[in-house]
Amino acid sequence: MAGKDISKEYRKLPSVNALLQEESVQDLLKEGCARFLLIDSIHDVLEKKRTAIKKKHEAAERIIVPEISEIAAEVAQSAKKKQRRFLNPVINATGVILHTNLGRAVLPKRAVEAIQRAAGAYTNLEIDLDTGKRGLRYQNVESLLCKLTGAEAALVVNNNAAAVFLSLATLGKGKEAIVSRGQLVEIGGSFRIPDVMEQSGVKLVEVGTTNKTHVQDIQNAIGPETGLLVRVHTSNYRVVGFTEEVELKEMVELGCQYQIPVLDDLGSGCLLDLTEHGMEEEPLVQNSVKAGADLVTFSGDKLFGGPQAGIILGKRKYIERIKKNPLLRAFRIDKLTLSGLEAVLVLYLEDEEWEKTLPVYQMLFRSYEDTKKAADSLAHGLREVWLQQDVVETQQATSRPGGGSLPETEIMSEVVVLKARNLSAGELERSLREHVPPILCRVSRDFVIIDPRTLIEGDKEEIIRAFELMENGQ
Ligand SMILES: *Cc1c(COP(=O)(O)O)cnc(C)c1O
Repeated sequence: MAGKDISKEYRKLPSVNALLQEESVQDLLKEGCARFLLIDSIHDVLEKKRTAIKKKHEAAERIIVPEISEIAAEVAQSAKKKQRRFLNPVINATGVILHTNLGRAVLPKRAVEAIQRAAGAYTNLEIDLDTGKRGLRYQNVESLLCKLTGAEAALVVNNNAAAVFLSLATLGKGKEAIVSRGQLVEIGGSFRIPDVMEQSGVKLVEVGTTNKTHVQDIQNAIGPETGLLVRVHTSNYRVVGFTEEVELKEMVELGCQYQIPVLDDLGSGCLLDLTEHGMEEEPLVQNSVKAGADLVTFSGDKLFGGPQAGIILGKRKYIERIKKNPLLRAFRIDKLTLSGLEAVLVLYLEDEEWEKTLPVYQMLFRSYEDTKKAADSLAHGLREVWLQQDVVETQQATSRPGGGSLPETEIMSEVVVLKARNLSAGELERSLREHVPPILCRVSRDFVIIDPRTLIEGDKEEIIRAFELMENGQ
């Protein structure tokens, strides 16, 4: 066979057009798969086949060109993989409520509707409808935030990292900022307070020790170069034991005495006393405002339960200065964030029982009994359709708030524990992850765990369907 013309072998492969007409490829097109993804996949697969032919040819081995349907199936598989890279809903069966990698807070229905309305239309984003002149993007959301929290003024940027950065860069540039050693937080994804300070042009002055910082430590560090006193909530860890933190109130008193503004980075924007719900204490937004912090920053999508945003509350004179910082433009929010955030704020202001409407709190406060009912019902459904079961049981486990909030809080849930006869836990987890929509769950030793606490409407049925499909070898 050696010496035979290889291009003759290549020509045995089907053409791009022929593959496009194959049933498995046509099916995907009908399901809405983009044509360019299929064509890319066809090119990828054909290239692979050519390489294989070339290898055989060089080794003087027999060349067998696969059937066109077989190649088309490979193309469909590859296109499906490419499709999965797009941003799509997934089922969060991990029990981690504010899962940062899964996009943190699920928004309430009214926010979803508001975003949808704004997305497909022009909006009054920067038009004052009373005068017809240019308006301010932040005006209405500012007044809602002030009404809700009691703050004098407010501003919203893309995320809390930007809120902290912009606050530091505006008030502390070229000056020193005093921070306790116990609060030099790393949030993950390379957000480290010391690095952010450096980038914002602020010189970090660390005071106290890891476990204890006294008011005196801060006072002793204040000098002519001091531009800011900074408190950072240690949102994702706790220093326990022999510890002392300076109260925000004491920092504000010092700030007043020396005419130095105080920045309080709360991380998570919590408005509800969680200790009343048996959880660990999370500092409250309204308390920081009341204590007199000059600037308070927090995320929109952690315990606040809204879209990704960085919220800055504070004294008017400081907020005005931040608004004038040309960098604000680089961090400004778009109409989608704004419409979602406004809707969440209206919900807080209008609904006295907002914790029953905001998905984050629905999940956080969902009773153990309720998760037990959900777990029982899911387990029952799975036993009916899943014949490869070795174990389908429910048991008590813990869910987590996640998103760097409430690190010590473990919420008791009943979860579904699964083990297949024919697959390892890793394989089963992967197979669920490959479902459309993908189902993400925990793996613990030999078991796959589905935590109902973070499931939303329709998820249970979809999970059962995934096992049904698996059963049919699809
Ligand atoms: C989460 C967090 C941030 C970063 O907020 P993003 O909204 O994720 O940018 C900053 N500071 C603290 C204390 C945090 O907990």
